[in-house]
Amino acid sequence: MPERLKLGVSSCLLGEEVRWNGGHSRARYLTDVLDEFVEFVPVCPEVEVGMGVPRPTVRLVLSDGEVAMIDPKNGTDWTSKMQRHSRSRARQLADEHLDGFVLKSKSPTCGMERVKLHREGTSPLTSGRGLFAAELIDRNPLLPVEEEGRLNDPGIRENFVERLFAFRRLKELFAPKWTVGDVVAFHTREKLLLRAHDPAGSRELGRMLAGAASRPRSSFASEYQDGFMSSMAKRATIRKHVDVLQHSVGFLRRSGDEVGRDEFFEAIEDYRAGLVPLVVPVTLLRHLARRHEQAYLLESSYLAPHPKELMLRNHV
Ligand code: SF4
Repeated sequence: MPERLKLGVSSCLLGEEVRWNGGHSRARYLTDVLDEFVEFVPVCPEVEVGMGVPRPTVRLVLSDGEVAMIDPKNGTDWTSKMQRHSRSRARQLADEHLDGFVLKSKSPTCGMERVKLHREGTSPLTSGRGLFAAELIDRNPLLPVEEEGRLNDPGIRENFVERLFAFRRLKELFAPKWTVGDVVAFHTREKLLLRAHDPAGSRELGRMLAGAASRPRSSFASEYQDGFMSSMAKRATIRKHVDVLQHSVGFLRRSGDEVGRDEFFEAIEDYRAGLVPLVVPVTLLRHLARRHEQAYLLESSYLAPHPKELMLRNHV
């Protein structure tokens, strides 16, 4: 596994007392579990922009198609100040080479989705995005971004952490001088994982790779990275995992280990039926791959996409 990941985070989620009321919104999954594997880069745009702690609350107001950040008590308009600051902060964070970002949900500054948009004389819409979150996502389109509340869902959590580590591997591939051969080797290792997220996208990346040698390097690299991260952003499902697991059997020797193969098929069926979590068939596959000395499977990121100590596949 690579060295610690670099994870941007809304400061209040780490227990920093920076909220409008002087409190925090500690997210235990970040501070007690992920903590061991990441270096946090905390950001509180409202404090950084000079709103102070404690401070009056602000809200997003939609008027004539424009979104503004307003203090409803005294009408102070923070929009331009916050947008300017968020733009330069998002640019600065792009230079920090983050592996991902966890945002505080529902905040008019940090919320990623479903933030309230207040309107004159009618009920609010819930389709807004915080001003900082909008700049962060626009300026870092490949960056895996999630909200802390959504990380309580085991499927979303596993998918997000998988994307963090995959993004790090992708950046490590393209950071030094790379060759098409390096990308082919990388793609071979990532193929099963990609297939579990986005089978069509995985095939498309394979086709792109086949034509790589005749293309300008920078356009190929940028298109491959876009395609890779958008495939990884698609949710892996039970059906897609079953497909990958069944496909993997084809790499094992056909004879001499019927019992092992039967147990593996049984584990796949139990997983499909929801009787056992994903970790069960994947662990059996790893054992079989070792026994059969199957290098393709053993080197595949599908078998170990994130540290096993996180136990993410025990819950999906
Ligand atoms: S939600 Fe964002 S702006 Fe609000 S306190 Fe947390 S880090 Fe600061």
